[in-house]
Amino acid sequence: MTAPIRIAFCHYTADVCGGSDRCLLDLVVALPRDRFESLVILKTGDPLADAYRDAGIAVAEVNFVPPRRAADLGKLVHFFAAFWPTVFRVAAHIRRFKADLVHVNTSVNLQGLVAARVARRPLVAHVRELGGGRTDAVILRIIGILAHRVVAISKAVGATLGASEDRLRVVFDGIDLSEYAALPDQREARARCGLDLERPIVTVVGRMEHWKGQHILVEAIPAILAAHPETEILFVGGPAKNKPAYMPALQARCDELGVTRSVTFTGIRNDIPMLMAASDVLALPTCTAEPFGRTVVEAMAARCPVVATAAGGPMDTMVDGETGYLVPIENATALAEKINLILADREAARVLGAQGRARAEARFSLPRHVQDMAAVFEETVAEAGG
Ligand code: UDP
Repeated sequence: MTAPIRIAFCHYTADVCGGSDRCLLDLVVALPRDRFESLVILKTGDPLADAYRDAGIAVAEVNFVPPRRAADLGKLVHFFAAFWPTVFRVAAHIRRFKADLVHVNTSVNLQGLVAARVARRPLVAHVRELGGGRTDAVILRIIGILAHRVVAISKAVGATLGASEDRLRVVFDGIDLSEYAALPDQREARARCGLDLERPIVTVVGRMEHWKGQHILVEAIPAILAAHPETEILFVGGPAKNKPAYMPALQARCDELGVTRSVTFTGIRNDIPMLMAASDVLALPTCTAEPFGRTVVEAMAARCPVVATAAGGPMDTMVDGETGYLVPIENATALAEKINLILADREAARVLGAQGRARAEARFSLPRHVQDMAAVFEETVAEAGG
């Protein structure tokens, strides 16, 4: 029997827990232990550290310093002063663990990327961002050159990378469908979430920040209410750490539009599958391309039709007209029209939901993700002569 491949995973939660954090946890916990042994190197105090430990995964904590985008000289100086000491600490963990391979989750973890090279281990870079600015584009190009394998979470992300085709793999995220297998029907799900049993419910789930586009949904509310006056719109999620002004601005705009009685800001929720099952439509109105968009797949798994911006991940995860609708970017009118279309025909909505569920099962399950990632790890080590 061959020894398991030893993988050092480098990651830190940069903001409130999001898709990249949850997806890595699911992957590391689900990797077959007879073939892989894992060490997760996290930022000290990472909110998911105990979840790894509880699952029997070794954890090391170091003081990763997230790159600062703000033009704040003090923060920049701190980042550069802390950079190399952190790199050497991470490299020491990698060596001590005798890792055969280093996996760096997200392209913001520059210290992890450099540490893999310092420790001279093969590097798998898992890219979950779409380079918006020039700095992002440069970082993504550097990753494309540095890494032995670059994993992109959607075709859109893959297209931004400078990696040659033989090193690039597009591996879609997967979600744990077992959490969706035993969901009750919509009425029961609403009762369990404390929601009204009769009103149409439109939900958006995600960090509250401008690019996630919750404000586009706010602008769509009057047109939704004109067609379906009883609709309740749920804004699920907490404010992004460095964008505290966005959520109050959304609430103020709801006041201005006179729609406050139809909206609820729920804060962060831990019962997303149940909320999806309770909803008639999930909206993902991002105003730049969503790199993947787990919430789309989560809604599909819960048989909830989706209306999403036609850019980035939803172009891979959804089929327009089959699992929901894709709408042009920053277009509140189109968003409202498609939401209204779904709310107007319950039978058509049921069919969209069922087709979404079938697609989630066929393409976006956790076992499929784990199998694809395991193949990437094994081929990378084999190629490196491990
Ligand atoms: N999420 C959650 N509770 C909330 C808001 C979000 O559990 O209140 C989860 C959501 O279900 C999804 C993840 O956070 O699994 C967000 O991932 P996505 O890919 O949609 O966006 P990202 O955070 O990666 O930008």
